[in-house]
Amino acid sequence: MAKTLIFLGPPGAGKGTQAERLVKEKGFIQLSTGDILREAVKNKTPLGLKAKEYMDKGELVPDDLIIGIIKDKLEQLKDKDIILDGFPRTIPQAEALDKILKEVGRNLDAVILFKIPDELVIERLSGRRVDPKTGKIYHIKYNPPPEGVEVIQRDDDKEEVIKHRLEVYHKQTEPLVEFYKKQNKLVEVDASKSPDEVYNQILNVL
Ligand code: ADP
Ligand code: AMP
Repeated sequence: MAKTLIFLGPPGAGKGTQAERLVKEKGFIQLSTGDILREAVKNKTPLGLKAKEYMDKGELVPDDLIIGIIKDKLEQLKDKDIILDGFPRTIPQAEALDKILKEVGRNLDAVILFKIPDELVIERLSGRRVDPKTGKIYHIKYNPPPEGVEVIQRDDDKEEVIKHRLEVYHKQTEPLVEFYKKQNKLVEVDASKSPDEVYNQILNVL
């Protein structure tokens, strides 16, 4: 059966960085709700127009907007190995996902919890830069972009918004840790380590 993984953890924990590598080396498909929403904002679609005000403030977008997107994607990607990156982020999203997975005949293999202290998250997010052309993720100190690559800073990676996103994580998303522990799906990785070390921890889970 096709593999289904969830990457759970605060913004800036390194979920996108690790997903990028699993896509490249292991053929996974990354479903990042953040990327999907940013693309919608860029193209000014109805979804993007609704989502933008929440994203700019570092709030979560309403559950019903996100759940529909994931349902469509999972119906399209029936036999692919996938990583859900940044979804689910609330208990109602997790409950909806359980139902969708049953409907499309998928089994949740593991929920990988990226454990990392808040101070490190703030450092990672404030130094994060992205190549808008390829979506590749860089960091001014830990993974600087090569000469000639033009990078941008995400609007929600500004100091004031970062703090709020972390609060939102602790309040609305962290309850999912207990939710998936009860399902016996939760596996922790120490996300404060180097990208290679985190990747090896993930390979041990697979
Ligand atoms: P997330 O997808 O969880 O929000 P990212 O993968 O975008 O996080 O990583 C956030 C920032 O931290 C990026 O600038 C990335 O280059 C950097 N980063 C990711 N993993 C590590 C790591 N293991 N060590 C140091 N920096 C990292
Ligand atoms: P991310 O790229 O995962 O850091 O997400 C960026 C922003 O997109 C978040 O701060 C939210 O505003 C929104 N977002 C992404 N995924 C979700 C989700 N599953 N539920 C609600 N909002 C989301």
